[in-house]
Amino acid sequence: MEEQSIQMNLCSTKKEKPSSDQLEFGKIFTDHMFIMDYSNEEGWHDARIIPYQPLALDPSAMVFHYGQSVFEGLKAYLTPDGEAQLFRPEKNMQRLNRSNNRLCIPPVDEEFALHAIKQLIALEKDWIPSAEGTSLYIRPFIISTEPYLGVAPSSHYQFIVILSPVGAYYKEGINPVKIAVENQYVRAVLGGTGEAKTGGNYASSLKAQEMVADKGFAQVLWLDGVEKKYIEEVGSMNVFFKINGEVVTPALNGSILEGVTRNSVIQLLKHWNVPVVERRISMEELYQANKAGILEEAFGAGTAAVISPIGQLTWQEEDYIINNGKTGEIARRLYDTLTGIQYGKEKDPFDWIVKVDKVEHLVK
Ligand SMILES: *Cc1c(COP(=O)(O)O)cnc(C)c1O
Repeated sequence: MEEQSIQMNLCSTKKEKPSSDQLEFGKIFTDHMFIMDYSNEEGWHDARIIPYQPLALDPSAMVFHYGQSVFEGLKAYLTPDGEAQLFRPEKNMQRLNRSNNRLCIPPVDEEFALHAIKQLIALEKDWIPSAEGTSLYIRPFIISTEPYLGVAPSSHYQFIVILSPVGAYYKEGINPVKIAVENQYVRAVLGGTGEAKTGGNYASSLKAQEMVADKGFAQVLWLDGVEKKYIEEVGSMNVFFKINGEVVTPALNGSILEGVTRNSVIQLLKHWNVPVVERRISMEELYQANKAGILEEAFGAGTAAVISPIGQLTWQEEDYIINNGKTGEIARRLYDTLTGIQYGKEKDPFDWIVKVDKVEHLVK
């Protein structure tokens, strides 16, 4: 793909920015958004940054009917020096294209997509909140827009990036959650779309989530879609267990989403010489480990919470209290190190950070 330029059409008036201690997740959006179009004839074209606004779509646009869409989620962080930075954004662009491939959506130029995200962040830099633990959430997504009710890949798409200032995930410090192991519904099956970041996976997960939410469970732990024996992941997080000194996480088997946080956790543990393995792990094994007193920690890993300690797992009416319901040592160390790197407070031995400020001057 040849280098495209980004047309700029800026707002004449700016919205009032929220105070950074009252932010929630994903309810407020910045002044501008990035958008580009795709057609079979022209490929990706008309890249532009425009005021944040509703989309005009034909009611027959394919995305409304058959769900051909993908998304990503990453964050921009403000450093103590007031610089904006991203955490491993190239991994998100690679995953976007893997999701695209699964959903029959044409690939984007990863470098150009990242360049566009950086341009948008540079423009909206004042929207990155500065309070502890806050960030600017970045939501790139692609929708199929061809007005056609036939079941086939769309011939037209839009790639859009919106930004949302988000509050600290943990308002009173990192806090263990209760998780219910889901025995009836499944999130994904081998050969399905579990590996892709696509809205349909979430649509099908809502029922199980809704059924446990009023019992005080934060999320459900999904088991494999065939035998409902093997652990897959938690809500929007990958999952880790520390059993007898070794950290275990389910191997990427084709139905698990490959998290950027998951990958970073594994690299950090290896760097620290903490034993870590990716393999299949069953609920039965976890049950036995818990009974033997060697299930030492459990935690989720994902962009939103970074690390989410699991204080209680409930499976078939039985509660397992893990590490006395407290945050474990490994979970704490991972959380502190990852957030330290993300916010530019700790050194970055893996070159994970990508600065935004170095973007060339915006074309007006
Ligand atoms: C996005 C996501 C994750 C976590 O991925 P990160 O890149 O670490 O944010 C895990 N599971 C599912 C289902 C997801 O959608």
